[in-house]
Amino acid sequence: MLKLFNTLTRSKEDFIPIDGKNVLMYSCGPTVYNFQHIGNLRTFFFEDILFRVLKYNDYNVRYVMNITDVGHLVSDQDVGEDKMEKSAKQLGKSVWEIADYYTEIFKRDISLMNIFPPDVYSKATDFIQEQIDLIKCLEAKGYTYQISDGIYFDTSKFPDYGKLAKLDISGLKEGSRIEFSQEKRNITDFALWKFSPENEQRQMEWDSPWGRGFPGWHIECSAMSKALLGNHFDIHCGGIDHIPIHHTNEIAQSEACNGEKFVNYWLHGEFLDMGNEKMSKSSGKFITLQTLMDKGYSPMHYRYFLLMAHYKKKLKFTYEALDAAKSGYNNLSGKILNLRKNPPSEKTLPVSERMKNFENRFLDRINDDLNMPEAMSVLWDMLKDEDLNQDEKYFLALDFDRVFGLGLENLRSDINEEVIPEDIQILIEKRKEAKKNKDFKSADEIRNSIREKGYDILDTKDGTQIKKLN
Ligand code: AMP
Ligand code: ZN
Repeated sequence: MLKLFNTLTRSKEDFIPIDGKNVLMYSCGPTVYNFQHIGNLRTFFFEDILFRVLKYNDYNVRYVMNITDVGHLVSDQDVGEDKMEKSAKQLGKSVWEIADYYTEIFKRDISLMNIFPPDVYSKATDFIQEQIDLIKCLEAKGYTYQISDGIYFDTSKFPDYGKLAKLDISGLKEGSRIEFSQEKRNITDFALWKFSPENEQRQMEWDSPWGRGFPGWHIECSAMSKALLGNHFDIHCGGIDHIPIHHTNEIAQSEACNGEKFVNYWLHGEFLDMGNEKMSKSSGKFITLQTLMDKGYSPMHYRYFLLMAHYKKKLKFTYEALDAAKSGYNNLSGKILNLRKNPPSEKTLPVSERMKNFENRFLDRINDDLNMPEAMSVLWDMLKDEDLNQDEKYFLALDFDRVFGLGLENLRSDINEEVIPEDIQILIEKRKEAKKNKDFKSADEIRNSIREKGYDILDTKDGTQIKKLN
């Protein structure tokens, strides 16, 4: 039985979907005004592990992730600039160009990290009408009021407000030093629709029954999950920073409008702690996957690093720890390549008692609230086991890798057990594409880039070969 820690009840619960083997899952995706840093990627990795564990348990998962391309303001207090518009101004591009550019890089990064894409990526700007409809529903039920800069949700009208975060609302009022609009009725009230500023032309704005403007950040997730998954679904996840505001507000909006429970299981991933390396995007100094690749780490080294910590534990990022993960991963891939030297003739093996024993241990660990560090120890114990034969070990390693996602089935052996870095693999693919299109100039340029990165590419009659330069 799969057990998951539910933030709503603060306890590990048996996972029982609403509809048998079918699971509906929603994750809060990236705000595409900048690159995602490796902290953000930790959250998307955790959601990928959850998705993979559900699949390993034979659930059919319909998975939706939003792309926030409007309405996320620099401050959580509904004041300040829209992050998207601010970034566009700084870079001298249109907001739409910024959104497309960072969305593509986000998709590339998660693909490099072997993170499964959701079934649907839903962009906030594609669901403006649904957001307006939801605000209309809240208005009709008496939950909204208007002030000078927009339409707000009156949190005092929703009796359970703050249940996810166990917010102490009266404590918040007394202890708060946060600035908030004097026009707001309650400190926790939040914007549903913001009016365009009078003195400034926004790039993204729409007509609405209340005036020209744009949606508040929280309404997008309530509106898109309703449109794509329904009023009541199984799992909603994100980083822990979403508990007190974003997810708390999503629950209020959805349950106030729909009159029924919104989500059964809320899961939240802990932060990646960067220590002294400031991770804030506003500082302009933060580490991305590309930073790691430029320093010679592959995305799989970073994935292995993340697997060493439980998702609910804070994880400190250091290059020393990443080096340890790199050698752990290289060691593992060397072992798998050795096992593969004599690949089993059959695709499936009769499962021996000993194999079954390891499979059960593995399932036990992953189903205990996604305990990846312990599941990794099962993998290592299995590889060291003296009673399993080579074929059995190889078969089990690939089976476990359906959850770990370390790409063990596709390791390349043609470069002395060293795994080809993912950025080189991307260049190889691009060169293949260029040659297919008879664009030999680009193909040569790509080959030169590959050489600059320390690899050479040879076209032989058996296909393309890649060699590490000494
Ligand atoms: P954003 O692009 O800011 O909307 O963030 C995308 C996701 O990254 C959200 O689910 C955040 O909760 C999560 N996140 C932000 N900072 C960190 C961090 N340092 N470690 C882990 N997750 C983070
Ligand atoms: Zn959200």
